[in-house]
Amino acid sequence: MKPPPFAYCRPHSLDEALEFLAEHGDEARPLAGGQSLVPMLNHRLARPTVLVDIGAIGDLQRMDRNESGWRIGATVTQRRVERESTEGCDLLRLAMPFIGHRQIRARGTVGGSIAHADPAAELPAVALTLDATMVAAGLDGQREIPAAEFFAGPYMNSLEEGEILSHVTFPTVPPTTRCSFREFARRKGDFAVAGVAATVDFEDGSVTAASLTAFAVGSNPVRLTGAEAAVAGRHLDEAALIDSAEAAAAEIEPWDDIHGSPQYRRQLVAALLRRALQEVAP
Ligand SMILES: Cc1cc2nc3c(=O)[nH]c(=O)nc-3n(C[C@H](O)[C@H](O)[C@H](O)COP(=O)(O)OP(=O)(O)OC[C@H]3O[C@@H](n4cnc5c(N)ncnc54)[C@H](O)[C@@H]3O)c2cc1C
Repeated sequence: MKPPPFAYCRPHSLDEALEFLAEHGDEARPLAGGQSLVPMLNHRLARPTVLVDIGAIGDLQRMDRNESGWRIGATVTQRRVERESTEGCDLLRLAMPFIGHRQIRARGTVGGSIAHADPAAELPAVALTLDATMVAAGLDGQREIPAAEFFAGPYMNSLEEGEILSHVTFPTVPPTTRCSFREFARRKGDFAVAGVAATVDFEDGSVTAASLTAFAVGSNPVRLTGAEAAVAGRHLDEAALIDSAEAAAAEIEPWDDIHGSPQYRRQLVAALLRRALQEVAP
């Protein structure tokens, strides 16, 4: 199908883009890599009459490291993050190859994936696991939104009308922090049926901090706080692996769709978490 008619503009500054959005209200949508929005237009799932292409705004293309972590501009492509060093942010590097196919990652952006808030997307899960900070730009200035407050349901975020996600800061972790990213999909490049992201710190073999997230099992990625508590202070021995996997399976509320039943997804998350913890165990 072809998209419904729309007007198109390609501003070169963030202020100009924000003014276009303010002028057209809910009729306008930012266009980033178009890898989700264009299919939605073609399927008439979205009908904006104005597309504000944010791809020519230089400031949104910056990717650099500061004292807080990696500051990644909204229109930095997923492929660029995959190819360039994000030292101190291994989870980001591990997750990137799971996003669709290389051609999609060459166009798809970090900000687009996070703003789109697909429940099965990898980047929102990474953002939640690392406690990333989203920075929203509006005509009145910028505001920071913690990842835990950003995702507001399937395909929904907490940006106000007229705001643009300008960049995301992914905190870096010490070299001793161990990371794992696991997902199950029917075919390589498909969206995950279920997935798990993990960062774990150890001292003398015992877990001192664990950040564990499941995704593709509900409206948004979800921190596995029960599983985190189950491994706290423990060596990742067989008993700890069983306890955390059971806690994870019990605390998620997976949906039911053609890809898997809630029970199947509980088992998947338990198995993926177990493998992730085995991978990071010293
Ligand atoms: C075949 C296929 C397979 C895919 N597989 C996966 C996968 O396995 N995992 C995965 O995570 N993704 C997958 N994707 C989606 C891909 O990652 C998209 O790139 C991503 O979801 C959206 O990024 P985009 O830059 O293309 O955004 P767009 O499609 O341009 O925009 C998506 C939405 O976000 C809004 N938006 C974009 N940027 C901003 C911003 N800076 N501020 C505010 N709102 C903004 C747009 O208005 C739109 O509503 C797949 C896509 C395809 C076509």
